[in-house]
Amino acid sequence: MVRCPECAVEIDLDEDEVDEGEILNCPECEAELEVVQTHPVHLNVISEDDDEDDEEDEEEAEAEGDDGDLSEEAVEDEEEDFEE
Ligand SMILES: [Zn+2]
Repeated sequence: MVRCPECAVEIDLDEDEVDEGEILNCPECEAELEVVQTHPVHLNVISEDDDEDDEEDEEEAEAEGDDGDLSEEAVEDEEEDFEE
């Protein structure tokens, strides 16, 4: 039995049915899991955990960036409609 390294849910996985490098999705937390080893199966979470310390900064930057993107897109849409 394999456990999701992210949420520790048991994943019903046959080690004969997976290949190294295969990407699975955890049925519980939907984390992307790479099969890094078979016999026994070992799963590695595909994520940006390495950047975890910067997570708060990234969220703030995204929030500011979204506002700018939205206004730019709105202007572009208006221009396109006007030409037509
Ligand atoms: Zn999981």
